[in-house]
Amino acid sequence: MSASVPGPRVTGLETEFGVLCAPAGPAEPASTDLPGIEQAAALIFRHRPVGYRSTNLFLPNGGRLYLDIGSHPEYATAECLRVRDLVAQDQAGRAILVSMAQQAAAGLARRGIRARFHLLANNTDSAGHTYGCHESYSVPRHLIGDGNGTEGGGSGRSEATMAVLTSFLATRPVLVGSGRPLRPGAAGSIPEAQGPQDEDACWGLSPRAPHLRSLTSADTTGERALINTRDEPHADPARLRRLHVTCADTTMAEPATGLRSALTLLLLDALEAGWDFTDLVLVDPLATLSALGDSAWGDVLAVTGDGRRLSAVDVQEAFLERMSDYLHEAGVPEFLRGAEHLVEDLAPRVVSALRHRDASAIDTEIDWAVKRRLMRAQRERHPQLCGQALETLRSRVDLAYHDLNAETGLSPRLTAQGAMTRLCEPQEVEDARRTPPATRAALRGAFVEACLEVGADFSVTWESLRLDSPATAPLDLPDPLETVNKAAESLTRRVRGLRLEQMRRINLVGRGGLGAPG
Ligand code: ATP
Ligand code: MG
Ligand code: MG
Repeated sequence: MSASVPGPRVTGLETEFGVLCAPAGPAEPASTDLPGIEQAAALIFRHRPVGYRSTNLFLPNGGRLYLDIGSHPEYATAECLRVRDLVAQDQAGRAILVSMAQQAAAGLARRGIRARFHLLANNTDSAGHTYGCHESYSVPRHLIGDGNGTEGGGSGRSEATMAVLTSFLATRPVLVGSGRPLRPGAAGSIPEAQGPQDEDACWGLSPRAPHLRSLTSADTTGERALINTRDEPHADPARLRRLHVTCADTTMAEPATGLRSALTLLLLDALEAGWDFTDLVLVDPLATLSALGDSAWGDVLAVTGDGRRLSAVDVQEAFLERMSDYLHEAGVPEFLRGAEHLVEDLAPRVVSALRHRDASAIDTEIDWAVKRRLMRAQRERHPQLCGQALETLRSRVDLAYHDLNAETGLSPRLTAQGAMTRLCEPQEVEDARRTPPATRAALRGAFVEACLEVGADFSVTWESLRLDSPATAPLDLPDPLETVNKAAESLTRRVRGLRLEQMRRINLVGRGGLGAPG
């Protein structure tokens, strides 16, 4: 494979949330006035930040908040350079949505309806719908070609790269899956005995895995794939592509969120630098991934192209070892600054936990392990439960784990108790609610903030800024890494100038009014 020195790349994270509005407490009567899902999502967006007319908005932190079809609120972080910033921006988006939901509840309370809004960062609802957690990585166009593994008479390098990527992604849930309690039917009925093996029989590593049907696809909803190949680079299309990964489990644990992106970024760097991982390409990655949906420790079959019968854990361990070698040779890349321990310490500990079938060393950092600990604690607390009652309890714990509501959600409480580890300081998350990361997002954020301050109409995309009144031509920003751009800065200054003009006008009118004799 040909080599080049990997440059910095941007990465973003989108999360779709489930919404539920329920009575404010067990003592509250179930009100017929409680909003259904669609209305609840609309009510949350009624409390969007001040100054926006639509439910599709770019924020001063450079991120995007919108109400998707199917009434799923979605938050997409701005383009980030560092994993640590990405996690802070992701958490900031959640915090913004939680404040909106709290205001929506307060609005209902003023009308005499005591309700609680639940934003669910999980991947499936009780009706079997799935919603996603998507990662975006900026890559040179030549690295993945058209993203289908073909590039119109190309060198074959992009085919090999796509095959490596899909094999990596299909086995990645062993490290960063969010875990799922299995229902009777998926793994037989839940055993009544309490030994660890019984626990294993009704536990799987990834809730998203059973919903993935193909390796690559340009269709986002019909045929869910590991990689979406729609060619939307949000950047100069001649030079860049956006690798759009659509198979992740939504995670609550910051270290797991960080580890997922850190490892994927590291693999992209190593591939770009010409490192060879083709011996780890699997014959049937989807079969392996699908089995991970029902596997407690990741020891599911993963057959390589050269006929080796490995397990999913073996494959991830081999990826990790080679990526560590690459890291030692290349030095710590910018994207890992402040999060080096994820790759150097946490990842090997997860592999060791899987090998020893003992998650106690990672059960504050990795979702599947944290959630398993919670399930076990509940089961010990209610030893008499079995069958349907036990299944209901497990589903409740699962839902509460992914609930962002400060009163009912488990992870805010566990984090406060130190039973879930943070990656970012609370202040970093607080800052990320307003402050964009140091990428093109900084230009966007400054423009949006100025427009909101003066009340100017504006239209923004990931790669353009436009003032709508007075109308200007859109300003293109094709380089996601650009943080300094004279034209963008001058446009933002012009917007801020509008306020001065407004104030002058008000002052003139005021002075005229006061000073006008008789
Ligand atoms: P959908 O929700 O329909 O899948 P989408 O993924 O195409 O839509 P958005 O939800 O708007 O679009 O999210 C775009 C994501 O891409 C964001 O997380 C953003 O940070 C990231 N991003 C923006 N520009 C680039 C770029 N040049 N390269 C890689 N990622 C980018
Ligand atoms: Mg999106
Ligand atoms: Mg997307």
